[in-house]
Amino acid sequence: MKIHEYQAKEILRKFGVVTPRGVPSFSVDEAVKAAETLGGKVWVVKAQIHAGGRGKGGGVKVAKSMDEVRTFASQILGMQLVTHQTGPQGQKVRRLLVEEGADISKELYVGMVVDRGTQRVALMASSEGGMDIEEVAAHTPEKIHTVFIDPATGLKDAELDDVAAKIGIPAASIPQAREILKALYKAFEETDCSLAEINPLILTGDGRVVALDAKINFDDNALFRHPDLVELRDLDEEDPAEIEASKFGLSYISLDGNIGCLVNGAGLAMATMDVIKLYGAEPANFLDVGGGADAEKVTEAFKIMLRNPGLKAILVNIFGGIMKCDTIAEGVIAASRAVQLKVPLVVRMKGTNEDLGKKMLAESGLPIISADNMAEAAQKVVAAVKGVH
Ligand code: ADP
Ligand code: MG
Repeated sequence: MKIHEYQAKEILRKFGVVTPRGVPSFSVDEAVKAAETLGGKVWVVKAQIHAGGRGKGGGVKVAKSMDEVRTFASQILGMQLVTHQTGPQGQKVRRLLVEEGADISKELYVGMVVDRGTQRVALMASSEGGMDIEEVAAHTPEKIHTVFIDPATGLKDAELDDVAAKIGIPAASIPQAREILKALYKAFEETDCSLAEINPLILTGDGRVVALDAKINFDDNALFRHPDLVELRDLDEEDPAEIEASKFGLSYISLDGNIGCLVNGAGLAMATMDVIKLYGAEPANFLDVGGGADAEKVTEAFKIMLRNPGLKAILVNIFGGIMKCDTIAEGVIAASRAVQLKVPLVVRMKGTNEDLGKKMLAESGLPIISADNMAEAAQKVVAAVKGVH
């Protein structure tokens, strides 16, 4: 689960990370009021969307008067903000963060992620903050310093001092950097993050270390431990198809291709997408209907896939273990009728009650293309898509 910058900063502040003072605002008037409350002479008006790169996209503006706060707030609020992380369609801005302007002398990067290889939290830090860290990783990887944190000891002072020095934090500011990194790690562990990033972490003109941006993703599988964090979810920022799917216990992720996939089991779903790609087409989604899918769930899954206007064909790939093939056949037939399916449908079923399931599909009178193995299924659905063009 992702949250907004202002929410992430609130959390990090509780753990002791220093941030600028700021007030979330939902209207232009609220933004002006926020600036008045904050006082000072310089404010930053920041679009709150679940994507980075807002600065480059025109979603972060420095205001030097109340008039400018009003102007920028009205420009940014409601805009369709396009960044390298939103895709070309952009994301509508519905919330702002008005923050006191910071005196930046240097922008650094620090981030933490779960590293599967070492099964540890990896701290990454770089002197090259503020810009795309992906660019730094691609072109100057030597400028990213990584520490795999030992879960038994946490971050050690020697590790912290070493990394702080490597990213160019002057000796006088190292104790502050140390505290911020420790606080970031504590927040990461206690709130079950999968990612926590401060980009930029800045050094101010007077040598203070401050988190100017904050991004947090939580591990969905741990959210049951954090009902207070679940409250922070903003459905406006999420894909409507994915929200709808989660209501029915379906794991669904929208993708860019045109072949809808309905599969039981995440591993088989991944393999199905791979085989589609192997035969030269692209999946429109990842969809795992889980072990206990019935006719109703399959119908809902079809409806969700069909919300995608780019969908050109559907591939159903089921391994009948606990789930029986005749149950799936019943679901597929009911769903095809209920949604008056207009795109080609290829079904591959294997396992328990396979023959019965195939017979039901054949006798349904529906134009279902049947396949016996994954390669054949993928070839048939790819051919069907190419035929539709
Ligand atoms: P994004 O990463 O989405 O572009 P950031 O919060 O990192 O958004 O802001 C982009 C840039 O705007 C920062 O790198 C920094 O230079 C500037 N900035 C952000 N917040 C402030 C602030 N409170 N005071 C001064 N400059 C800021
Ligand atoms: Mg940033």
